[in-house]
Amino acid sequence: MALINSQFLKVSQDAVAREIEGRIKQFRFVNPGTEPIRLDSGDVALPLLPSVVNAMQASVSELGGKSPFLGRGPERGCSFLIEAIVKNDFKARGVRIAEEEIFINEGTKQDVASIGDILCRDNRIGVLDPIFQTYVESNVVGYRAGILEKGRHWSNIVYLTATSDNNFIPSLPEERPDVIFLSFPNDPTGIALTTGQLKKWVDYAIENKVLILFDATYEAFITSDDVPRSIYEIKGARKVAIEFHSFSKSAGFTGLHCGYTVIPREVEGYSIYSGKEIFFNDLWQRRQAIKSNAPSYIIQRAAEALYTEQGRREVRQNVDYYMSNASMLRAALDRTGLRYCGGVDAPFIWMESPWRSSWKLFEKLLGECEILSSPGERFGPSGEGYVRLSAFADQTQVMRASTRIGDWGK
Ligand SMILES: *Cc1c(COP(=O)(O)O)cnc(C)c1O
Repeated sequence: MALINSQFLKVSQDAVAREIEGRIKQFRFVNPGTEPIRLDSGDVALPLLPSVVNAMQASVSELGGKSPFLGRGPERGCSFLIEAIVKNDFKARGVRIAEEEIFINEGTKQDVASIGDILCRDNRIGVLDPIFQTYVESNVVGYRAGILEKGRHWSNIVYLTATSDNNFIPSLPEERPDVIFLSFPNDPTGIALTTGQLKKWVDYAIENKVLILFDATYEAFITSDDVPRSIYEIKGARKVAIEFHSFSKSAGFTGLHCGYTVIPREVEGYSIYSGKEIFFNDLWQRRQAIKSNAPSYIIQRAAEALYTEQGRREVRQNVDYYMSNASMLRAALDRTGLRYCGGVDAPFIWMESPWRSSWKLFEKLLGECEILSSPGERFGPSGEGYVRLSAFADQTQVMRASTRIGDWGK
């Protein structure tokens, strides 16, 4: 008799998704032939970049050629891609990261969820709230979350809440977690931390022997000068932080799945038996050898193309397209006087509900502006009272949405 991991029965994000589906159905019933403008997407809207398509086509021909035979690559990823990453994302910005510290991944989501493989169940986890729910749910299924209280909070998770009360910048935890998941620029609030603000977290982690898991998925969208693109721009972060990068949003790789995980040599954890320090880089290498073969050669060549001159230009245009969508939405909201944040360093706008209820704002935007948003509950307990507007949408659609929002809020 095979026993299941019952923890999977306890994660029920589906409830919010079902509720949204129900409301869309209702909208279509009341407005036959009308489709709402979708500003609820976590997926990108533009096609693959030409440099990526070319690189993939060339690599397919290479694989189909007679020699040399190209089969399984290294578990940590191909050196041509790792070299391009180190050179462009770190060295060029004055950050010291070595090639052995990079692991090519099949998207941030997978690695963020799997990093728990090398963490003991007894760790106390801290998560930013609101946040991408993979952080919470992967710890629920990994037996680190405790029990669900009042249908909202997990008893063993320390929630680092970000609401308008603290300008969406969480305070350092009162209770010390062993591991903290941070994600800046943040999905859904769109907020980024300045160097000074992030330094507080790094200093706290060093002082309290806390491991920081930093999701930098949206770093390419940063426009503010004083916001670091990597946590390793902060002194001492090499000792305490693992960082995740993704090509999904900046380069439209959501259908290809590729990114990378950085584990500096100095980051260490402790053996539960002996208390001895163990390097996470070594542990993750073992984990990769057991469970992963890195993305395909084709995908890694596609990612390498992002670092060519043409690739970099195309990524820039791609990001600019979404950020001008965000600017349009911000300008429309500014005309209304409705409260929001984000849209400056990330392609998300976090809008406060004047009625305190996310669902009420969701309903008003849908019914009166024919705009589909994401209710804040999707992102954790502190999401209540907000909705997320996504700039990952077609520009003409965003223009129409902005006009409607501007007229509506007056
Ligand atoms: C979209 C998103 C991801 C997913 O990244 P993949 O590389 O596509 O797996 C990770 N983190 C955050 C915060 C995201 O919004």
